[in-house]
Amino acid sequence: MSEAGKKTIEAITTIQQYINGGFVPSSTNETFENLSPYTNEPINQVASGSSDDIHQAVQAAKKAFKGEWGQMKLKERLGYIYKIADLIDEHIEEIAPLESYDTGLPIQQTKKMVARSAQNFRFYAEMVSTRLVGDVYPVDDEFLNYTIQKPVGVAGLITPWNAPFMLETWKIAPALATGNTVVLKPAEWSPLTANRLAEIIDKADLPDGVFNVVHGYGETAGAALVSHPDAPLISFTGETTTGSEIMKNGADALKRFSMELGGKSPIIVFDDADIDRALDACTWGIFSFNGERCTANSRLYVQESIAEEFVKRLQERVDNIKVGDPMDDKTEVGPLIHRNHCENVRGYLEIAKEEGADIYSGNIPSDLSRGNYIAPTLLLNANNEMRCVQEEIFGPVIAVMTFESEEEVVEKANDVRYGLAGYVWTKDIQRGHRVSQAIDSGMLWVNAQNVRDLRTPFGGAKHSGIGREGGYYAFEFYTEQQVIHVALGDHHIPQFGK
Ligand code: NAD
Repeated sequence: MSEAGKKTIEAITTIQQYINGGFVPSSTNETFENLSPYTNEPINQVASGSSDDIHQAVQAAKKAFKGEWGQMKLKERLGYIYKIADLIDEHIEEIAPLESYDTGLPIQQTKKMVARSAQNFRFYAEMVSTRLVGDVYPVDDEFLNYTIQKPVGVAGLITPWNAPFMLETWKIAPALATGNTVVLKPAEWSPLTANRLAEIIDKADLPDGVFNVVHGYGETAGAALVSHPDAPLISFTGETTTGSEIMKNGADALKRFSMELGGKSPIIVFDDADIDRALDACTWGIFSFNGERCTANSRLYVQESIAEEFVKRLQERVDNIKVGDPMDDKTEVGPLIHRNHCENVRGYLEIAKEEGADIYSGNIPSDLSRGNYIAPTLLLNANNEMRCVQEEIFGPVIAVMTFESEEEVVEKANDVRYGLAGYVWTKDIQRGHRVSQAIDSGMLWVNAQNVRDLRTPFGGAKHSGIGREGGYYAFEFYTEQQVIHVALGDHHIPQFGK
Protein backbone atom coordinates (compact mmCIF):
# COMPACT_ATOMS: atom_id res chain seq x y z
CA MET A 1 0.00 0.00 0.00
CA SER A 2 1.19 3.55 -0.69
CA GLU A 3 2.42 5.75 2.17
CA ALA A 4 -0.54 8.07 1.56
CA GLY A 5 -2.89 5.10 1.89
CA LYS A 6 -1.32 3.94 5.14
CA LYS A 7 -1.50 7.41 6.65
CA THR A 8 -5.15 7.82 5.65
CA ILE A 9 -6.10 4.53 7.25
CA GLU A 10 -4.19 5.34 10.44
CA ALA A 11 -6.01 8.67 10.61
CA ILE A 12 -9.55 7.22 10.47
CA THR A 13 -11.64 8.62 13.29
CA THR A 14 -15.33 9.17 14.03
CA ILE A 15 -17.21 10.31 10.95
CA GLN A 16 -19.62 13.24 11.09
CA GLN A 17 -22.36 14.46 8.80
CA TYR A 18 -21.51 17.17 6.27
CA ILE A 19 -24.29 19.74 6.39
CA ASN A 20 -24.30 23.32 5.12
CA GLY A 21 -20.53 23.39 4.62
CA GLY A 22 -19.58 22.01 8.04
CA PHE A 23 -18.87 18.65 9.67
CA VAL A 24 -21.38 18.13 12.49
CA PRO A 25 -22.48 15.27 14.76
CA SER A 26 -25.94 13.78 14.48
CA SER A 27 -28.63 15.86 16.16
CA THR A 28 -29.26 12.93 18.51
CA ASN A 29 -25.51 12.47 19.09
CA GLU A 30 -25.98 8.81 18.19
CA THR A 31 -23.37 6.88 16.28
CA PHE A 32 -23.16 3.42 14.74
CA GLU A 33 -20.20 1.09 14.44
CA ASN A 34 -18.46 0.50 11.13
CA LEU A 35 -16.89 -2.97 10.88
CA SER A 36 -13.95 -4.28 8.88
CA PRO A 37 -15.02 -6.98 6.39
CA TYR A 38 -11.52 -8.46 6.70
CA THR A 39 -11.49 -8.94 10.49
CA ASN A 40 -14.99 -8.03 11.65
CA GLU A 41 -13.40 -5.69 14.16
CA PRO A 42 -14.68 -2.13 14.54
CA ILE A 43 -13.02 0.42 12.26
CA ASN A 44 -14.69 3.54 13.62
CA GLN A 45 -17.93 5.18 14.70
CA VAL A 46 -20.22 7.03 12.31
CA ALA A 47 -22.79 9.74 13.11
CA SER A 48 -26.19 8.15 12.79
CA GLY A 49 -28.38 10.58 10.87
CA SER A 50 -31.91 11.25 12.07
CA SER A 51 -34.89 12.72 10.27
CA ASP A 52 -33.92 16.03 11.85
CA ASP A 53 -30.44 15.84 10.26
CA ILE A 54 -32.06 15.11 6.90
CA HIS A 55 -34.32 18.11 7.39
CA GLN A 56 -31.34 20.37 8.18
CA ALA A 57 -29.47 19.09 5.13
CA VAL A 58 -32.45 19.51 2.81
CA GLN A 59 -33.07 23.04 4.08
CA ALA A 60 -29.41 23.96 3.52
CA ALA A 61 -29.56 22.49 0.01
CA LYS A 62 -32.79 24.32 -0.72
CA LYS A 63 -31.33 27.63 0.42
CA ALA A 64 -28.22 27.10 -1.74
CA PHE A 65 -30.40 26.25 -4.73
CA LYS A 66 -32.44 29.42 -4.31
CA GLY A 67 -29.31 31.43 -3.59
CA GLU A 68 -25.76 31.58 -4.90
CA TRP A 69 -25.64 28.19 -6.65
CA GLY A 70 -28.94 28.72 -8.43
CA GLN A 71 -27.86 32.17 -9.67
CA MET A 72 -24.34 31.14 -10.68
CA LYS A 73 -23.19 31.42 -14.29
CA LEU A 74 -22.65 28.07 -15.99
CA LYS A 75 -18.92 28.55 -16.52
CA GLU A 76 -18.36 29.24 -12.85
CA ARG A 77 -20.50 26.26 -11.79
CA LEU A 78 -18.66 23.91 -14.09
CA GLY A 79 -15.38 25.31 -12.78
CA TYR A 80 -16.31 23.80 -9.42
CA ILE A 81 -17.08 20.45 -11.08
CA TYR A 82 -13.63 20.36 -12.73
CA LYS A 83 -12.06 21.34 -9.42
CA ILE A 84 -13.69 18.37 -7.67
CA ALA A 85 -12.32 16.07 -10.42
CA ASP A 86 -8.80 17.45 -9.97
CA LEU A 87 -8.99 17.06 -6.19
CA ILE A 88 -10.14 13.44 -6.53
CA ASP A 89 -7.18 12.77 -8.81
CA GLU A 90 -4.85 14.30 -6.25
CA HIS A 91 -6.19 11.94 -3.58
CA ILE A 92 -6.40 8.68 -5.55
CA GLU A 93 -3.59 7.15 -3.53
CA GLU A 94 -5.67 7.60 -0.37
CA ILE A 95 -9.18 6.90 -1.61
CA ALA A 96 -8.61 3.47 -3.13
CA PRO A 97 -7.03 1.99 0.06
CA LEU A 98 -9.79 3.54 2.15
CA GLU A 99 -12.44 1.98 -0.09
CA SER A 100 -10.80 -1.46 0.04
CA TYR A 101 -10.34 -1.26 3.80
CA ASP A 102 -14.00 -0.39 4.28
CA THR A 103 -15.64 -2.69 1.74
CA GLY A 104 -13.27 -5.64 1.20
CA LEU A 105 -13.06 -4.88 -2.52
CA PRO A 106 -9.57 -5.80 -3.77
CA ILE A 107 -7.31 -2.79 -4.08
CA GLN A 108 -6.29 -3.66 -7.65
CA GLN A 109 -9.96 -3.05 -8.55
CA THR A 110 -10.73 -0.02 -6.36
CA LYS A 111 -7.78 1.88 -7.88
CA LYS A 112 -9.43 1.71 -11.30
CA MET A 113 -12.83 2.65 -9.93
CA VAL A 114 -11.56 5.73 -8.15
CA ALA A 115 -9.84 6.95 -11.31
CA ARG A 116 -13.19 6.64 -13.06
CA SER A 117 -14.83 8.71 -10.34
CA ALA A 118 -12.80 11.81 -11.25
CA GLN A 119 -13.70 11.14 -14.87
CA ASN A 120 -17.41 11.15 -13.96
CA PHE A 121 -17.11 14.80 -12.89
CA ARG A 122 -15.13 15.85 -15.98
CA PHE A 123 -17.47 13.96 -18.24
CA TYR A 124 -20.56 15.67 -16.83
CA ALA A 125 -18.98 19.11 -16.97
CA GLU A 126 -18.40 18.47 -20.68
CA MET A 127 -21.85 16.97 -21.22
CA VAL A 128 -23.58 19.94 -19.63
CA SER A 129 -21.58 22.52 -21.58
CA THR A 130 -22.20 20.78 -24.90
CA ARG A 131 -25.48 18.87 -24.60
CA LEU A 132 -27.68 20.67 -22.06
CA VAL A 133 -29.46 22.42 -24.88
CA GLY A 134 -33.02 23.06 -25.90
CA ASP A 135 -34.98 22.59 -29.12
CA VAL A 136 -36.61 25.27 -31.23
CA TYR A 137 -39.94 24.79 -33.01
CA PRO A 138 -40.65 27.73 -35.33
CA VAL A 139 -44.27 28.02 -36.53
CA ASP A 140 -44.13 30.11 -39.70
CA ASP A 141 -44.21 33.81 -38.82
CA GLU A 142 -46.60 33.22 -35.91
CA PHE A 143 -44.68 31.54 -33.12
CA LEU A 144 -41.26 30.62 -31.92
CA ASN A 145 -41.57 27.76 -29.46
CA TYR A 146 -38.47 26.59 -27.66
CA THR A 147 -37.49 24.36 -24.79
CA ILE A 148 -35.06 24.86 -21.95
CA GLN A 149 -33.85 22.36 -19.34
CA LYS A 150 -33.84 23.76 -15.84
CA PRO A 151 -32.41 22.20 -12.68
CA VAL A 152 -35.14 20.85 -10.42
CA GLY A 153 -33.92 21.64 -6.90
CA VAL A 154 -32.67 19.37 -4.12
CA ALA A 155 -31.62 15.93 -5.33
CA GLY A 156 -31.72 13.15 -2.73
CA LEU A 157 -29.12 10.54 -3.69
CA ILE A 158 -29.28 7.13 -1.98
CA THR A 159 -26.41 4.78 -2.76
CA PRO A 160 -25.30 1.18 -2.05
CA TRP A 161 -22.06 -0.22 -0.66
CA ASN A 162 -20.87 -2.32 -3.57
CA ALA A 163 -18.86 0.35 -5.40
CA PRO A 164 -19.58 3.26 -3.10
CA PHE A 165 -17.23 6.01 -4.22
CA MET A 166 -17.76 5.46 -7.94
CA LEU A 167 -21.54 5.16 -7.66
CA GLU A 168 -21.82 8.25 -5.49
CA THR A 169 -19.87 10.34 -8.01
CA TRP A 170 -21.95 8.85 -10.84
CA LYS A 171 -24.97 10.59 -9.30
CA ILE A 172 -23.39 13.67 -7.71
CA ALA A 173 -21.63 14.77 -10.91
CA PRO A 174 -24.74 15.08 -13.12
CA ALA A 175 -26.84 16.41 -10.23
CA LEU A 176 -24.45 19.29 -9.51
CA ALA A 177 -23.35 19.95 -13.08
CA THR A 178 -26.98 20.44 -14.17
CA GLY A 179 -27.41 22.95 -11.34
CA ASN A 180 -29.20 21.02 -8.61
CA THR A 181 -28.03 20.80 -5.01
CA VAL A 182 -27.49 17.49 -3.26
CA VAL A 183 -28.20 15.53 -0.10
CA LEU A 184 -26.33 12.22 -0.25
CA LYS A 185 -27.34 9.29 1.99
CA PRO A 186 -24.56 6.73 1.51
CA ALA A 187 -24.85 3.08 2.49
CA GLU A 188 -24.30 2.48 6.20
CA TRP A 189 -21.86 -0.38 5.55
CA SER A 190 -19.44 1.78 3.53
CA PRO A 191 -19.18 5.28 5.05
CA LEU A 192 -15.43 5.94 4.78
CA THR A 193 -15.05 7.13 1.21
CA ALA A 194 -18.35 9.02 1.28
CA ASN A 195 -16.85 11.01 4.12
CA ARG A 196 -13.58 11.46 2.18
CA LEU A 197 -15.64 12.76 -0.73
CA ALA A 198 -17.29 15.29 1.58
CA GLU A 199 -13.80 16.39 2.69
CA ILE A 200 -12.70 16.73 -0.92
CA ILE A 201 -15.78 18.67 -1.95
CA ASP A 202 -15.29 20.84 1.13
CA LYS A 203 -11.80 21.65 -0.18
CA ALA A 204 -13.28 22.59 -3.55
CA ASP A 205 -15.03 25.37 -1.61
CA LEU A 206 -18.51 25.13 -3.10
CA PRO A 207 -21.04 27.54 -1.58
CA ASP A 208 -22.42 26.21 1.71
CA GLY A 209 -25.31 23.78 1.38
CA VAL A 210 -24.71 22.82 -2.26
CA PHE A 211 -23.49 19.38 -1.24
CA ASN A 212 -24.48 17.58 1.98
CA VAL A 213 -23.93 14.09 3.35
CA VAL A 214 -26.10 12.47 6.00
CA HIS A 215 -24.89 9.04 7.09
CA GLY A 216 -27.23 6.56 8.70
CA TYR A 217 -29.63 3.72 8.24
CA GLY A 218 -31.94 3.35 5.28
CA GLU A 219 -35.04 2.94 7.42
CA THR A 220 -34.39 6.23 9.26
CA ALA A 221 -32.18 8.71 7.38
CA GLY A 222 -32.96 7.21 3.96
CA ALA A 223 -36.69 7.07 4.55
CA ALA A 224 -36.74 10.67 5.85
CA LEU A 225 -35.05 11.86 2.65
CA VAL A 226 -37.50 9.92 0.47
CA SER A 227 -40.54 11.48 2.14
CA HIS A 228 -39.12 15.00 2.56
CA PRO A 229 -41.37 17.43 0.66
CA ASP A 230 -38.48 19.74 -0.30
CA ALA A 231 -36.38 17.10 -2.07
CA PRO A 232 -38.26 16.50 -5.34
CA LEU A 233 -35.69 14.12 -6.87
CA ILE A 234 -34.68 10.71 -5.53
CA SER A 235 -31.98 8.82 -7.38
CA PHE A 236 -31.65 5.40 -5.83
CA THR A 237 -29.27 2.52 -6.49
CA GLY A 238 -29.80 -0.64 -4.51
CA GLU A 239 -31.93 -3.72 -4.19
CA THR A 240 -35.14 -4.10 -6.13
CA THR A 241 -37.24 -4.64 -3.00
CA THR A 242 -35.82 -1.46 -1.41
CA GLY A 243 -36.55 0.44 -4.62
CA SER A 244 -40.15 -0.60 -4.58
CA GLU A 245 -40.52 0.37 -0.91
CA ILE A 246 -38.96 3.76 -1.62
CA MET A 247 -41.40 4.38 -4.46
CA LYS A 248 -44.31 3.66 -2.14
CA ASN A 249 -42.90 5.95 0.54
CA GLY A 250 -42.31 8.78 -1.93
CA ALA A 251 -45.67 8.50 -3.62
CA ASP A 252 -47.48 11.00 -1.39
CA ALA A 253 -44.84 13.64 -2.13
CA LEU A 254 -45.01 12.77 -5.88
CA LYS A 255 -41.27 12.27 -6.12
CA ARG A 256 -39.43 11.87 -9.38
CA PHE A 257 -37.42 8.65 -9.17
CA SER A 258 -34.45 7.17 -10.91
CA MET A 259 -34.15 3.51 -9.95
CA GLU A 260 -30.99 1.47 -10.56
CA LEU A 261 -31.84 -1.92 -9.11
CA GLY A 262 -30.70 -5.53 -8.90
CA GLY A 263 -29.65 -7.92 -11.65
CA LYS A 264 -29.21 -11.57 -12.58
CA SER A 265 -27.50 -11.13 -15.90
CA PRO A 266 -26.88 -13.97 -18.36
CA ILE A 267 -23.69 -14.69 -20.24
CA ILE A 268 -24.35 -16.82 -23.33
CA VAL A 269 -21.44 -18.64 -24.93
CA PHE A 270 -22.08 -20.18 -28.35
CA ASP A 271 -19.85 -22.94 -29.67
CA ASP A 272 -18.27 -20.67 -32.30
CA ALA A 273 -17.11 -18.11 -29.71
CA ASP A 274 -13.51 -17.19 -29.00
CA ILE A 275 -13.42 -19.54 -26.02
CA ASP A 276 -10.30 -18.11 -24.40
CA ARG A 277 -11.69 -14.59 -24.34
CA ALA A 278 -15.18 -15.73 -23.32
CA LEU A 279 -13.62 -17.62 -20.42
CA ASP A 280 -11.64 -14.57 -19.30
CA ALA A 281 -14.72 -12.38 -19.49
CA CYS A 282 -16.97 -14.87 -17.75
CA THR A 283 -14.52 -15.35 -14.88
CA TRP A 284 -13.85 -11.66 -14.42
CA GLY A 285 -17.51 -10.70 -14.81
CA ILE A 286 -18.64 -12.79 -11.88
CA PHE A 287 -15.64 -12.78 -9.55
CA SER A 288 -14.40 -9.18 -9.80
CA PHE A 289 -15.78 -6.85 -7.08
CA ASN A 290 -16.15 -10.07 -5.04
CA GLY A 291 -19.22 -10.84 -7.14
CA GLU A 292 -20.93 -7.81 -5.59
CA ARG A 293 -21.51 -6.21 -8.97
CA CYS A 294 -24.96 -5.25 -10.24
CA THR A 295 -24.03 -6.18 -13.82
CA ALA A 296 -22.28 -9.43 -12.82
CA ASN A 297 -22.83 -12.34 -15.22
CA SER A 298 -24.28 -14.60 -12.55
CA ARG A 299 -25.94 -17.03 -15.00
CA LEU A 300 -23.79 -18.87 -17.52
CA TYR A 301 -25.48 -20.56 -20.49
CA VAL A 302 -22.89 -22.46 -22.50
CA GLN A 303 -23.73 -24.40 -25.67
CA GLU A 304 -23.80 -28.20 -25.16
CA SER A 305 -21.05 -29.06 -27.63
CA ILE A 306 -18.42 -26.99 -25.79
CA ALA A 307 -19.88 -27.19 -22.29
CA GLU A 308 -17.62 -29.91 -20.92
CA GLU A 309 -14.41 -28.18 -21.95
CA PHE A 310 -15.62 -24.70 -20.96
CA VAL A 311 -16.75 -25.78 -17.50
CA LYS A 312 -13.53 -27.73 -16.90
CA ARG A 313 -11.51 -24.62 -17.69
CA LEU A 314 -13.79 -22.49 -15.52
CA GLN A 315 -13.16 -24.91 -12.64
CA GLU A 316 -9.42 -24.50 -13.13
CA ARG A 317 -9.83 -20.73 -12.90
CA VAL A 318 -11.89 -21.06 -9.73
CA ASP A 319 -9.18 -23.28 -8.22
CA ASN A 320 -6.53 -20.67 -8.96
CA ILE A 321 -8.27 -17.37 -8.16
CA LYS A 322 -6.33 -15.60 -5.45
CA VAL A 323 -8.59 -15.07 -2.47
CA GLY A 324 -6.91 -12.84 0.08
CA ASP A 325 -6.44 -9.59 1.96
CA PRO A 326 -8.19 -6.82 -0.01
CA MET A 327 -5.23 -4.53 0.68
CA ASP A 328 -2.85 -6.90 -1.13
CA ASP A 329 -2.26 -5.92 -4.77
CA LYS A 330 -2.36 -9.54 -5.88
CA THR A 331 -5.74 -10.36 -4.34
CA GLU A 332 -8.47 -11.04 -6.87
CA VAL A 333 -11.34 -11.85 -4.48
CA GLY A 334 -11.66 -10.29 -1.02
CA PRO A 335 -14.17 -10.59 1.84
CA LEU A 336 -17.82 -9.66 1.39
CA ILE A 337 -18.98 -6.37 2.82
CA HIS A 338 -20.65 -7.58 6.01
CA ARG A 339 -21.26 -10.66 8.10
CA ASN A 340 -25.02 -10.49 7.43
CA HIS A 341 -24.53 -10.33 3.69
CA CYS A 342 -22.04 -13.20 3.88
CA GLU A 343 -24.63 -15.27 5.76
CA ASN A 344 -27.18 -14.48 3.03
CA VAL A 345 -24.82 -15.72 0.34
CA ARG A 346 -24.04 -18.87 2.38
CA GLY A 347 -27.78 -19.38 2.73
CA TYR A 348 -28.10 -19.37 -1.05
CA LEU A 349 -25.40 -22.05 -1.33
CA GLU A 350 -27.44 -24.22 1.04
CA ILE A 351 -30.60 -23.55 -0.96
CA ALA A 352 -28.75 -24.42 -4.19
CA LYS A 353 -27.62 -27.72 -2.68
CA GLU A 354 -31.16 -28.57 -1.56
CA GLU A 355 -32.42 -27.69 -5.02
CA GLY A 356 -30.05 -30.21 -6.55
CA ALA A 357 -27.19 -28.08 -7.85
CA ASP A 358 -23.62 -29.38 -7.43
CA ILE A 359 -21.43 -26.90 -5.62
CA TYR A 360 -17.89 -26.45 -6.89
CA SER A 361 -15.84 -24.02 -4.80
CA GLY A 362 -12.32 -22.62 -4.83
CA ASN A 363 -10.15 -22.19 -1.77
CA ILE A 364 -10.01 -19.76 1.10
CA PRO A 365 -6.61 -19.63 2.84
CA SER A 366 -6.94 -20.66 6.50
CA ASP A 367 -5.51 -17.38 7.84
CA LEU A 368 -8.58 -15.52 6.58
CA SER A 369 -11.05 -17.10 8.99
CA ARG A 370 -12.02 -13.82 10.66
CA GLY A 371 -13.23 -12.23 7.42
CA ASN A 372 -16.50 -12.53 5.49
CA TYR A 373 -15.10 -14.87 2.86
CA ILE A 374 -17.00 -16.92 0.33
CA ALA A 375 -14.83 -18.88 -2.07
CA PRO A 376 -15.46 -18.40 -5.79
CA THR A 377 -18.24 -20.90 -6.50
CA LEU A 378 -19.86 -22.61 -9.47
CA LEU A 379 -23.39 -23.98 -9.14
CA LEU A 380 -23.17 -26.85 -11.61
CA ASN A 381 -26.18 -28.58 -13.17
CA ALA A 382 -28.38 -25.65 -12.26
CA ASN A 383 -31.66 -24.90 -14.02
CA ASN A 384 -34.07 -22.01 -14.35
CA GLU A 385 -36.53 -23.49 -11.86
CA MET A 386 -34.07 -22.98 -8.99
CA ARG A 387 -34.13 -19.98 -6.66
CA CYS A 388 -30.36 -19.72 -6.98
CA VAL A 389 -30.90 -19.04 -10.70
CA GLN A 390 -33.87 -16.70 -10.29
CA GLU A 391 -32.71 -14.55 -7.35
CA GLU A 392 -29.80 -12.14 -7.05
CA ILE A 393 -27.15 -13.67 -4.76
CA PHE A 394 -24.67 -10.77 -5.04
CA GLY A 395 -21.57 -12.79 -4.22
CA PRO A 396 -18.87 -14.75 -6.09
CA VAL A 397 -21.32 -17.39 -7.24
CA ILE A 398 -22.30 -18.31 -10.79
CA ALA A 399 -25.02 -20.72 -11.89
CA VAL A 400 -23.84 -22.90 -14.76
CA MET A 401 -26.31 -24.18 -17.37
CA THR A 402 -26.20 -25.51 -20.91
CA PHE A 403 -28.35 -25.05 -24.02
CA GLU A 404 -28.70 -26.52 -27.48
CA SER A 405 -30.44 -23.95 -29.67
CA GLU A 406 -30.52 -20.18 -29.98
CA GLU A 407 -34.27 -20.11 -29.44
CA GLU A 408 -33.95 -22.11 -26.23
CA VAL A 409 -31.23 -19.91 -24.74
CA VAL A 410 -33.08 -16.67 -25.50
CA GLU A 411 -36.10 -18.02 -23.68
CA LYS A 412 -34.02 -19.14 -20.70
CA ALA A 413 -32.05 -15.89 -20.55
CA ASN A 414 -35.29 -13.89 -20.41
CA ASP A 415 -36.96 -16.15 -17.88
CA VAL A 416 -36.11 -14.05 -14.77
CA ARG A 417 -37.65 -10.93 -13.33
CA TYR A 418 -34.43 -8.93 -13.80
CA GLY A 419 -33.17 -7.27 -16.97
CA LEU A 420 -30.09 -5.22 -16.21
CA ALA A 421 -27.31 -6.53 -18.47
CA GLY A 422 -26.38 -9.45 -20.72
CA TYR A 423 -23.34 -10.81 -22.53
CA VAL A 424 -23.31 -12.77 -25.80
CA TRP A 425 -20.26 -14.57 -27.18
CA THR A 426 -20.35 -15.70 -30.82
CA LYS A 427 -18.35 -15.06 -33.99
CA ASP A 428 -21.54 -15.08 -36.08
CA ILE A 429 -22.26 -11.38 -36.43
CA GLN A 430 -25.89 -11.86 -37.40
CA ARG A 431 -26.56 -14.13 -34.47
CA GLY A 432 -24.74 -11.67 -32.19
CA HIS A 433 -27.13 -8.87 -33.10
CA ARG A 434 -30.18 -11.12 -33.22
CA VAL A 435 -29.70 -12.65 -29.78
CA SER A 436 -28.71 -9.31 -28.23
CA GLN A 437 -31.88 -7.66 -29.45
CA ALA A 438 -33.98 -10.58 -28.24
CA ILE A 439 -32.65 -10.35 -24.67
CA ASP A 440 -34.77 -8.14 -22.42
CA SER A 441 -32.08 -6.08 -20.74
CA GLY A 442 -31.13 -2.43 -20.47
CA MET A 443 -27.57 -3.17 -21.60
CA LEU A 444 -25.99 -5.91 -23.68
CA TRP A 445 -22.36 -6.58 -24.58
CA VAL A 446 -21.33 -8.73 -27.57
CA ASN A 447 -17.91 -10.41 -27.39
CA ALA A 448 -16.98 -8.04 -24.60
CA GLN A 449 -16.78 -7.80 -20.87
CA ASN A 450 -18.53 -5.04 -19.00
CA VAL A 451 -16.81 -2.01 -20.57
CA ARG A 452 -18.67 1.22 -19.92
CA ASP A 453 -19.03 4.07 -22.36
CA LEU A 454 -20.13 7.02 -20.23
CA ARG A 455 -22.05 8.55 -23.15
CA THR A 456 -24.49 5.65 -23.37
CA PRO A 457 -27.67 5.11 -21.32
CA PHE A 458 -27.09 3.07 -18.16
CA GLY A 459 -30.00 1.29 -16.53
CA GLY A 460 -32.16 -1.77 -16.39
CA ALA A 461 -35.33 -3.20 -17.89
CA LYS A 462 -38.01 -5.16 -16.00
CA HIS A 463 -37.31 -5.25 -12.23
CA SER A 464 -33.76 -3.95 -12.70
CA GLY A 465 -34.71 -0.32 -12.86
CA ILE A 466 -36.68 2.63 -14.05
CA GLY A 467 -35.10 5.38 -16.13
CA ARG A 468 -31.58 5.78 -17.44
CA GLU A 469 -28.52 7.49 -16.08
CA GLY A 470 -25.38 8.17 -18.11
CA GLY A 471 -24.70 10.53 -21.00
CA TYR A 472 -27.32 13.17 -21.70
CA TYR A 473 -29.94 10.59 -20.72
CA ALA A 474 -29.37 11.68 -17.10
CA PHE A 475 -30.72 15.13 -17.99
CA GLU A 476 -34.21 13.72 -18.28
CA PHE A 477 -34.10 12.98 -14.56
CA TYR A 478 -32.00 15.88 -13.26
CA THR A 479 -33.70 18.66 -15.21
CA GLU A 480 -37.18 19.95 -15.80
CA GLN A 481 -38.11 20.56 -19.42
CA GLN A 482 -39.92 23.82 -19.95
CA VAL A 483 -41.41 24.99 -23.22
CA ILE A 484 -41.74 28.69 -23.96
CA HIS A 485 -44.22 29.74 -26.64
CA VAL A 486 -43.54 33.19 -28.04
CA ALA A 487 -46.05 34.84 -30.38
CA LEU A 488 -44.28 36.65 -33.19
CA GLY A 489 -47.38 38.34 -34.54
CA ASP A 490 -51.03 38.90 -33.80
CA HIS A 491 -52.40 35.36 -33.99
CA HIS A 492 -56.10 34.79 -33.66
CA ILE A 493 -57.47 35.01 -30.10
CA PRO A 494 -61.17 34.15 -29.61
CA GLN A 495 -62.95 37.19 -28.24
CA PHE A 496 -65.35 35.74 -25.67
CA GLY A 497 -67.83 38.22 -24.24
CA LYS A 498 -66.72 41.05 -26.50
P1 NAD B 1 -29.97 -1.73 -0.36
O1 NAD B 1 -31.20 -1.61 -1.16
O2 NAD B 1 -29.99 -2.57 0.84
O3 NAD B 1 -29.46 -0.30 0.13
C1 NAD B 1 -29.14 0.74 -0.76
C2 NAD B 1 -29.29 2.07 -0.05
O4 NAD B 1 -30.66 2.26 0.29
C3 NAD B 1 -28.51 2.18 1.26
O5 NAD B 1 -27.98 3.49 1.36
C4 NAD B 1 -29.58 1.96 2.31
O6 NAD B 1 -29.28 2.56 3.53
C5 NAD B 1 -30.76 2.64 1.65
N1 NAD B 1 -32.08 2.20 2.13
C6 NAD B 1 -32.44 0.99 2.61
N2 NAD B 1 -33.75 1.00 2.96
C7 NAD B 1 -34.23 2.23 2.68
C8 NAD B 1 -35.49 2.86 2.82
N3 NAD B 1 -36.55 2.22 3.30
N4 NAD B 1 -35.62 4.16 2.44
C9 NAD B 1 -34.56 4.82 1.91
N5 NAD B 1 -33.34 4.29 1.79
C10 NAD B 1 -33.16 3.00 2.15
O7 NAD B 1 -28.84 -2.20 -1.40
P2 NAD B 1 -27.36 -2.65 -1.05
O8 NAD B 1 -27.42 -3.96 -0.39
O9 NAD B 1 -26.65 -1.50 -0.42
O10 NAD B 1 -26.74 -2.79 -2.53
C11 NAD B 1 -26.78 -3.95 -3.28
C12 NAD B 1 -27.88 -3.86 -4.33
O11 NAD B 1 -27.68 -2.75 -5.18
C13 NAD B 1 -27.90 -5.06 -5.26
O12 NAD B 1 -29.23 -5.47 -5.45
C14 NAD B 1 -27.32 -4.52 -6.56
O13 NAD B 1 -27.69 -5.21 -7.73
C15 NAD B 1 -27.84 -3.13 -6.54
N6 NAD B 1 -27.04 -2.28 -7.43
C16 NAD B 1 -27.60 -1.86 -8.60
C17 NAD B 1 -26.85 -1.07 -9.48
C18 NAD B 1 -27.44 -0.60 -10.78
O14 NAD B 1 -26.89 0.31 -11.37
N7 NAD B 1 -28.54 -1.15 -11.25
C19 NAD B 1 -25.55 -0.70 -9.15
C20 NAD B 1 -25.02 -1.15 -7.93
C21 NAD B 1 -25.78 -1.93 -7.07
